Amino acid sequence: MKFAPILLAGLAAACAPPASQAQDPQPAAATKAPISEKAPVSGLQLDFPVACEIGATCEVQNYVDRDPGPGAQDYRCGSNTYEAHGGVDIRIPDMAAQAAGVEVLAAAPGRVARLRDGVPDISVTERGKAALQGQDCGNGIVVDHGNGWETQYCHLARGSLKVKVGDQVAAGTPIARIGLSGNTEYPHLHLTVRKDGTMVDPSAPEGACDPASSGAGLWSAPAAQAMAYKSGAVLNTGFAGAPVSMAAIEAGGLARPTAASALVAYVRAINLQGGDIQELTLKAPDGAVVVTSVQPALDRAKAQYFMMAGKKAQANGWPRGRYVATYAVKRGGKVVISRTFDVAL
Ligand SMILES: [Zn+2]
Repeated sequence: MKFAPILLAGLAAACAPPASQAQDPQPAAATKAPISEKAPVSGLQLDFPVACEIGATCEVQNYVDRDPGPGAQDYRCGSNTYEAHGGVDIRIPDMAAQAAGVEVLAAAPGRVARLRDGVPDISVTERGKAALQGQDCGNGIVVDHGNGWETQYCHLARGSLKVKVGDQVAAGTPIARIGLSGNTEYPHLHLTVRKDGTMVDPSAPEGACDPASSGAGLWSAPAAQAMAYKSGAVLNTGFAGAPVSMAAIEAGGLARPTAASALVAYVRAINLQGGDIQELTLKAPDGAVVVTSVQPALDRAKAQYFMMAGKKAQANGWPRGRYVATYAVKRGGKVVISRTFDVAL
């Protein structure tokens, strides 16, 4: 099978996601893709492009970098982006979810203009950047919406493309599945929007970043509502029978604890802020605290961060019943994110 080459601007701006826990600024790019400051705010309306539910089965990991210099700021002047990032990243929880299949949907009606398939679903940390040979987008689809507007969908699963060049698609048409192809180390959709070949931030097409921006931009009302800006979000919670790692959380499908195993509660959050303090408390069925873990205040914003709290196996096993974990993020003395989850032993 032959694959049509994809040749377009914007591929270089696909994702170079967080390494380990850090969100370190990357070295200044020699050239930075220009962000249109004059793009019309009307003319294209985008529906949410993934068959997932933000807050439940996906989150926005990154927005477009709106800082014209070597720094990185999203459209709200926040840190939910990184240097020269040219799109919006919608992230699913783990590779288990990717394997189960999450559809990518055309964001607006149009015609399939270009595509590429055949890139393996292997994390760039494993494959190496050199092996990408410039195919940062991985498997991708470009949809032409007319009047100079196009959308590009990156990191699609190999062999999952459901359309061919020339096909007409409606808003919401499934076009592929989320994968791990190209310059990425976690499964997500990278969506780039362009007008007349210039990248446009769909959340706020005009002006500089603004902490008061609604982010509605080109999005339909339901999409804008779903994508309401968050300074931090919980991507994964769960229990395991042994200590976990970032890689194990990313893989998904962790073995559940048993009455005879250790008991570990874990959380992975994204886009936390410098200064944030995280607490994770695990309580027994009778309400007694089994263990509490508190992380020191974060030294800077973190693209992703995981923590756990647990205890080794008990001599006579864990008493039967429901164990409840509570995770809280405190910012400026106030709880800004909280999540409770439980497991029955
Ligand atoms: Zn991206």
